Amino acid sequence: MFSSRLKNLVPYVPGEQPQDRKYIKLNTNENPYPPTPRIGQFLNRFDAERLRLYPDPLFLSLREKIAGRYGITKDQVFVGNGSDEVLAFSFYAFFDSEKGNLLFPEFTYSFYPVYCDLFDISYTKVPLAHDFNIDIAKIMDAGKSCGAIFPNPNAPTGMLLPLEHIKSLLAGYDENNVVLVDEAYIDFGGESAVSLIDQYKNLIVVRTLSKSMSLAGIRIGFAMGNPGLIQALFAVKDSFNSYPANVLSQEIAQIAFSDADYYNAVVEKIINTRTVLSKELKQIGWDVLPSSANFVFARKTGFKGKEIYLKLKERGILVRHFSTPGIDEFVRITIGTDQDTTVLVKEMQSCF
Ligand code: PMP
Repeated sequence: MFSSRLKNLVPYVPGEQPQDRKYIKLNTNENPYPPTPRIGQFLNRFDAERLRLYPDPLFLSLREKIAGRYGITKDQVFVGNGSDEVLAFSFYAFFDSEKGNLLFPEFTYSFYPVYCDLFDISYTKVPLAHDFNIDIAKIMDAGKSCGAIFPNPNAPTGMLLPLEHIKSLLAGYDENNVVLVDEAYIDFGGESAVSLIDQYKNLIVVRTLSKSMSLAGIRIGFAMGNPGLIQALFAVKDSFNSYPANVLSQEIAQIAFSDADYYNAVVEKIINTRTVLSKELKQIGWDVLPSSANFVFARKTGFKGKEIYLKLKERGILVRHFSTPGIDEFVRITIGTDQDTTVLVKEMQSCF
């Protein structure tokens, strides 16, 4: 009944979305603040008749909007159903084991090896530096490869790689191999590599509206890169699903891009809360990695991540833990509101 491909699949496990009770939900890096109020106004006057027709398979208006925001052209922009889908299409389009292994950091977004298995791409996990940062020299020294991918800031560490390091990787790396920078969290404190896409034809930058734009529910992600790479992503999309982004999602995303002031204020609040949380956790004896994302990666000597997760869950707070050796002492805590943070720190102080 089932294909042999299915037998070997080990799917990615997303963070819990519990329906049983109300938690302070700090486990999936969602934004604690609502999207721009302009979206609510749009939904209130939306004409349902419009849903009779298929959405634009080329996402033209949204791509124009994104291009305008980043000072590029729409033929340098691709859109997908969440950045996970854009990543999946990119793995399919760009990475091929016949050329060598795909390179990514040892501790990183755990969907990458899943896509590799799905598309039969062999990979090499490149060790991080001792301070948990991504080490470009180690990527360069990793041997024959078919491409490289990493989030910046990295997940789940939250640590940022300065743009200079990405430039030196691109300058020294095989220009026939794609370098994919997954910028899901870049708005929370880093400099985007999108400024390099004209110079490096093998660079693709992937973004999401799920985090800084408070729109995880509409599932919109996008990629920016050389038009040749974008066309390749369209070829994959059009071999899979003509309409991955629905009518409402495409419109809502455009409205979000029209309210930069609102989102700048949201991001600033999250960064301030991150500073407070990191400081308070350190004061009560936690080790907190320097974060440029909307989460912190923290540990307390003598405890395993799972134990911390379970204790906090009992107290109505959800965080994420990992069972991978090397990071199994950590929990990843999404930055919530100031109020969430006060409750969290109080519980952490009393439990650990
Ligand atoms: N990249 C990274 C590094 C992430 O942490 C996430 C969120 N799980 C994604 C991509 C996917 O985000 P989305 O599909 O919501 O755009």
